[in-house]
Amino acid sequence: MKLTVLGCYGPYPKARGACSGYLLENQDTKILIDCGNGVLSRLMEYCGNLSNIDAILISHLHPDHMSDLMVLRYAIAIGQMKGKVSKSIDLYTPASPKEDYDRIQYQQAFTMHTIQDGNEINVKGIKISFKRTDHPIECYAMAFEKENKKFVYSGDTKYHESLVEFAEQSDVFLCEGGILEKDWNENVPHVSVKQAAELALKAGVKRLLLTHFYPEVSTYQLFQEAREVFPYILELAEERKTYFI
Ligand SMILES: [Zn+2]
Ligand SMILES: [Zn+2]
Repeated sequence: MKLTVLGCYGPYPKARGACSGYLLENQDTKILIDCGNGVLSRLMEYCGNLSNIDAILISHLHPDHMSDLMVLRYAIAIGQMKGKVSKSIDLYTPASPKEDYDRIQYQQAFTMHTIQDGNEINVKGIKISFKRTDHPIECYAMAFEKENKKFVYSGDTKYHESLVEFAEQSDVFLCEGGILEKDWNENVPHVSVKQAAELALKAGVKRLLLTHFYPEVSTYQLFQEAREVFPYILELAEERKTYFI
């Protein structure tokens, strides 16, 4: 499998950046994970024909993870009308908040599926499982398994012990970690970068890829704080970079 970072900022991007969006590929399989603002433009660089997308998975319905769905649906529907897009795209998302969920569908752009805790699906041989996280709205971490390789994405979350087991022994753990410990308090619905590193260490992950950067925070400081805890392969997500799993 290979993972291309389309956007890595939250809850808003820095200049020329994009919010959460990742393209997971395996041979001719393409799965879009999250679709925050700025992601569609980047996706077009890697996937000219939207029919080539096998599934879209949305961790939760906060706008920095889903707002470009509202534009992507036009591209799909108009493509369908003109005969360029041959199908509705399978979209997996939490069913709440209901008013946000209800607004996503446009014509026949998507075939809607709802995610629930413990769900397991299979997209062209990639096994995908979901784990509810601790966030103000319904949000899911996702694990992707194919041929003894395991890739896990945290979604948005506070520190949660059950994520340790879920991320266990992953080859790559893409985890949010955009806030320094000094800026973190109990009311912040995210892990600090130190907590992300602790989670990864406990889970025995082989390679930690940090993402969801608050644009005002120094990425150098984020890396240093994680490095004090996590001694193995540690990287900060870079937009347009591809990581092999
Ligand atoms: Zn977010
Ligand atoms: Zn969120």
